[in-house]
Order: sequence, then C-alpha cells, then structure tokens
Amino acid sequence: MERIFLTKYIIITGGVVSSIGKGITSASMGRILRSYGLNVSAIKIDPYLNWDSGTLNPYQHGEVFVTNDGMETDLDLGHYERFLDVELEGFANITTGKVYKAVISKEREGGFLGECVQVIPHITNQIKEMIRDTSEKKDYDVVLIELGGTVGDIESQPFLEALRQLRNEEGSENVMFVHVTFIPYLDAAGEFKTKPTQHSTKELRSMGINPDVIVCRSQKPIDDALKQKVAHFCDVDRNAVVNTPDAGTIYEVPLVLEENNIGELIVKRIGLDIEADSSKLDDWAKIVESIKIKDPVVTIGIIGKYVELEDAYISIRESLQHAAASIGVKANIEYLSSDVDELDKDVMGNFDGILIPGGFGERGFEGKLDAVEYAIENDVPLFGICLGMQSIVTQFARRNGYSDANSSEFDDNLKYPVIDMMKEQKKIKNMGGTMRLGSYDCKIIEGTKTHDAYGEIDIEERHRHRYEFNNDFRDDLESKGLIISGTSPDDFLVEIIEVPNHPWAIGCQFHPEFKSRPNRPHPLFKSFLEAIYNYSKN
Ligand code: GLN
Repeated sequence: MERIFLTKYIIITGGVVSSIGKGITSASMGRILRSYGLNVSAIKIDPYLNWDSGTLNPYQHGEVFVTNDGMETDLDLGHYERFLDVELEGFANITTGKVYKAVISKEREGGFLGECVQVIPHITNQIKEMIRDTSEKKDYDVVLIELGGTVGDIESQPFLEALRQLRNEEGSENVMFVHVTFIPYLDAAGEFKTKPTQHSTKELRSMGINPDVIVCRSQKPIDDALKQKVAHFCDVDRNAVVNTPDAGTIYEVPLVLEENNIGELIVKRIGLDIEADSSKLDDWAKIVESIKIKDPVVTIGIIGKYVELEDAYISIRESLQHAAASIGVKANIEYLSSDVDELDKDVMGNFDGILIPGGFGERGFEGKLDAVEYAIENDVPLFGICLGMQSIVTQFARRNGYSDANSSEFDDNLKYPVIDMMKEQKKIKNMGGTMRLGSYDCKIIEGTKTHDAYGEIDIEERHRHRYEFNNDFRDDLESKGLIISGTSPDDFLVEIIEVPNHPWAIGCQFHPEFKSRPNRPHPLFKSFLEAIYNYSKN
C-alpha cells in the first residue's frame, strides 16, 4: 500500500492485571509528545464483541464516552481527549465487533472473490486497515494504539498479530511497543516481585513482539536494582524500564514519565526529528499544581444510581476538578445513591453543590427528584445533566400544577409527559440506534445565567439521549417562571433550562463533561463551581 506520509506508531500493551492505568499511561505519553509540538492522535482497541460501548453496563465498564461524531466509546477516549486536547473520531475506538462486522459485510458483498475468509489474513488485514484509516485522516506524526485487556487473553490474539504485522510493514524504526505491567509488593516477604512482569513479557515475546519500554506500575516507588532486574530478565535497555508509582493526580503522570526521560527515549527510538525538551511541559506542570491545591475545599454531591463504580461518572469528576482548579479551589466529590426510599438529609447537608448526572431507566429517578427539591428549597447550587436536566424539569412541573408529571421513559401512559420522545425517534427499534448522539449546535439566550457562563450565543455540545423536553408544556412552564436558556438553532428543542429565584440551578440536555479539558474547563462547570464557592463563603 502506497503511503502519502509516514506516521509513527506507539503501541501500548498491558500485562499482569487490568486497571493499572494503561489508558492514563498512553494519554500521558501522548501529552508529552503534544507538548513537544507534535500532531498526535490515539486509538483504543477493545477486543470485546460488542460493536460499541453503547450497550455496556456502566457498573462493569464505567462511563460511555461520546465523540463529536456520535460514537459511543470506551472511557479511555475521554482520557486521550483530555490529555491530548484533541477531538477524536468514533473509529478511534476499534472493537472486535467492528472488525468482524466489516469483514462479514465485505464477504456478503462478494468482496473476497471466493476466498476462504480467515482470521489471518482477513481479520488482521481489517485491523490494520482500520488503524491506517484513522491515522491517515489527518497528518498525524504519532498515533498511540492502546490494546485493551492483558497480554495472554484469547480475544486479544488477532490484534497482537495484526500489530506485529504492522511493525513489520511500517518498519521497526517507525513502530515501538510499550508494555505496561504491575510490580506487586508482598507484605509477607517484605519485597517487590518482578516475576509477573517477567511472565507477561515472555507471553508478549511468544507472539513475536519484543517490548522497547516497560512501564512498571507500583503502589510505592521501586529502586534501581529492581529496574535493573526487570531490564535483565525482560531483555530491554536499563533506561527503558520506567517506574510510575501511584500518583496524587492522574495529570501528574506525564511529568513522572518525563522525569524518567521517556520523551527522549521515544524520540530516539522512532526517529522523530525534534528535540525532547522537558521544559515544554512547564504549562502542563502549572495545571497539575493548580489541580493539587488543598484548600479552600468545596464539597459536591453527585446523586445518581451508578455510584458504586466511580468510573461511571469519570468525565463529570474530571470536569469538576478542571473547573475547581481554574478558580483556585479544591473539589471534594462525594457520591450518593439516588436509589433509596429517602435521601439522608445529614449527608445532603454537607454538600455545597449538587450535581444530578445522566442515566437510563426508572430506578433511582424519584431519588433524583428529591435531590432537586432539596437543592431548590435550600438554595444549594444545582447542576442537572441529561437525565439530571429532565429531573429538574419534572420536579419544576410537579411543583407548578402538574402533580403527576414524569418522563415517558418510565411510563408511556402519562397524563403529563413533560419529558417525551421525539416522533422521529419513536420509529427506531434497534437498541443501539435510537438515540440522539454526538455534537449538535445550540443557541444560548441572552440575559440568562447560561449566557453569563458561556459568554457567547452559538455553541456545540454532545448528546446521548432518547427523550426531550416536551414542547406541549413549554409555554405554560415558562409562564410559571422556568427559564429556557438554550435551544436548538431552530428554537424547536429545549437544550438548557434554569430555575428562577435560585443562586444557580441549571440543567442541560447534553453532556458538557465530554468537552472539558484541564487547560480549558467547560464554561458551565466553571460557572457552577464559581456559584458554589461564592455561595458557600456567605
Ligand atoms: N434516559 C434519558 C434519555 O434517554 C437520559 C439519558 C442520559 O442521561 N444520558 O433521554
């Protein structure tokens, strides 16, 4: 295949255990290269059979991250967007489902001309094609490819084989492998253990892949002798064994990696024609300092039903932190389940601000309405996102003459369906395909708190929902004081609402948390934090 320009690839694999922060490690390497001035993108490979993350349970898999083009993706894309400050395409998340679907469709169309269609070469070719398609869309200098799961998983084998072939085809001077492992500390033995790292590297090498760098995650720092041992047994250069002990904040990881000269290592290994200059990370270091601030503290309660797994609200948590850091406060975030008969008023009393996140299904919805009521009655700043916005509208309607108001999501025989499904969406039957997804234009109404926050009229935000504010109730609810502060450009869809006579109570139908960056907090989160801070001082 003729290449127009040459992209360099950094492939990140994982060993020993999952959840060791491969996504953050990948994003952090990307941040370093971005700071050097390179055009960097990232791809996440998820070897599961689902086509996308849309139908995955947030309890098991954490948040579903939505890209501008409306793909429901793995939460690691959120890390990449935040660390690299880029906007990724949905196909930057490659799944086994997408790969097989493409191959099977081609086979049905007769695209293989009678050949027997096999994992090698057809699936592996498709994987490489998807990687190259994403890489070639823009003039990327470097594309990071993170392979989900751990080396040795049966389902990752075709991907490892495709990545090995990629290195061969692109030239090993253009492709490097970084293996992220975990070094456990055994209390009983009083020492760190490198054996699991040795084994997982061996497993990787049995697939024909020799890692160039080993990033050893650990709870506490490991010493040089241990790094030497890993280098020796895993056959990598001594300076290519890097330790990233647990950090105070994830945003510190690029700095830790850079202290270990990983930037220089990468630049030399894949022949990037630039100087690895650590001082280029000074701006990032300033952001990290502002995120590490310890006081003043404001406490924000997130009241939702997926609270058992914090990752379910990961972009919201990060957005709150970006916003807090930007105004010089520390956001202490607490999670409270809305799936209870009665909210604990003592716990609620600790919250300087209340955030009701998005969600699906009836369970926990009444608890969200109670949280809205509490925030309204006690003048606590209140931010509702998606289902959270729908909760604010429902609660406002119930307080203003529609005692049984509800969303048609929970009952399709309602007297007052203040939240309802749009006609176009009603026609669609397929679970994964019925939603309003991705970026849409929105028009902000002047003279509102929302306009104060954004400081502009025309904005774009990302959506993921089936239901909308029902226009049949619009005039009446407005006459009762509800403020409509943002709509679709044609004024048809209500996108943002405000509750009157309250310090700050805003709900938005979209998900602002997908667009916040540590260096560019989202205007609504920033305004929410300012309201919380100013109000909590009084
Ligand atoms: N369940 C609601 C809907 O589909 C809200 C979705 C969400 O909060 N993301 O409209």
